[in-house]
Amino acid sequence: MMRVGIAMLQGARHEHYQAIKLASMEMQQEVEVVELRKSEQVDSSIDGLILPGGESTTMRIASLSESLLEGLFDWMTQYPDRPVLGTCAGAILLAQPTQGRERFINLDIARNAWGRQKFSFEAGVEVTLETPEQSTNVEIELTRDKFNHKPLPMGNDAINSESEQFPGVFIRAPRFIQDSIKCQPVAHLSQEVVGVLQGEKLALTFHPELTGDRRFHRWLIGRIMDSKQ
Ligand code: GLN
Repeated sequence: MMRVGIAMLQGARHEHYQAIKLASMEMQQEVEVVELRKSEQVDSSIDGLILPGGESTTMRIASLSESLLEGLFDWMTQYPDRPVLGTCAGAILLAQPTQGRERFINLDIARNAWGRQKFSFEAGVEVTLETPEQSTNVEIELTRDKFNHKPLPMGNDAINSESEQFPGVFIRAPRFIQDSIKCQPVAHLSQEVVGVLQGEKLALTFHPELTGDRRFHRWLIGRIMDSKQ
């Protein structure tokens, strides 16, 4: 049984929880999802890690009492072969860990570089990363939340059902400084690199957990499966 840890610092944690669960169903794999809140939990039993998006400064502050971030960085240093998916603020943490630590992805990143919240957007992203196919189709019903709000039906259909593009949701997103990138580009928005892979670290400036396309979550599970063989 695989164990995937989600850093429960702040931000889009619960959406990642659901996305990885659904991805495991799509791949017919048993995955235990561990909500990481204390650094002691980030131990050798964690096979892969998700660093969600949100607000990286708030995450750093939220981490102070339990030093979760330091535990996550230690784990990533100790197990460089275990896969990590860092999205948006999670990508910022990979590129700019705490001072004095070597960065996990070799590039410079600019926070909030598309402008303010109202300049958030959704756009088709070209993906060149190889990701596992889904072996079964998992449809979820979009139910109303406790406020009686209906969720947006985001996913491939919302963008362009004819294309293979990924529905990129960019919320006050950072941007990779293009000429600083010294790792493998795996996702583009027009000409701009918005996703990179360095070893087993996958960093995206957008939010894949807010869509119905779970290929990046399947990637994480696929990498764990390969490493366990
Ligand atoms: N603006 C956030 C930051 O700088 C990142 C945005 C996000 O994760 N959606 O931390």
